Amino acid sequence: MEVIRCGQCQRKLAEAQYTRLEIKCPRCGTLNILRAMSPPPARPGASNVEGNYDQAQRRERTP
Ligand SMILES: [Zn+2]
Repeated sequence: MEVIRCGQCQRKLAEAQYTRLEIKCPRCGTLNILRAMSPPPARPGASNVEGNYDQAQRRERTP
């Protein structure tokens, strides 16, 4: 599930899984048209930390 927020006022509009979505913000009236992008990482941020750690390890091992 993904939290959908208004692009104009950041009001939370819905939580949903979607491929395409059009939703009008009840607060400011902006029509938000959303399309699903690449699937989000399972643990946001974690993969980057692991990647940097892995690279550091490799640099140490490299003569
Ligand atoms: Zn809004």
